[in-house]
Amino acid sequence: MEIDHIIPHALGGLTEEDNLWLACSPCNERKGISIAGLDPLRGNIIPLFNPRRQIWQDHFAWVDDGRRILGLTPIGRITVTALQMNRPLIVRARTIWVLAGWHPPKD
Ligand SMILES: [Zn+2]
Repeated sequence: MEIDHIIPHALGGLTEEDNLWLACSPCNERKGISIAGLDPLRGNIIPLFNPRRQIWQDHFAWVDDGRRILGLTPIGRITVTALQMNRPLIVRARTIWVLAGWHPPKD
């Protein structure tokens, strides 16, 4: 895991607790300096999910027995797309975690 600036340092985000979060390295690399994306369903600009201010379950759900993440809202959809949260490697890893009984998380 890496410490991610929710509002990237390059865009003026501060290195303070309210702007920091843990992200896995591949997600952090995909996020880069993004703070928003284009909702493919409506065509408007939507901010990425903010793990400090929003609740994961309001925007995402585990589907396919926990192997994939479904974006439930525009914020969820654009975050799943921007961070490629269902990329093949992580889906394969989740498949193993599901078989081992470690996934999906209960909360
Ligand atoms: Zn990740």
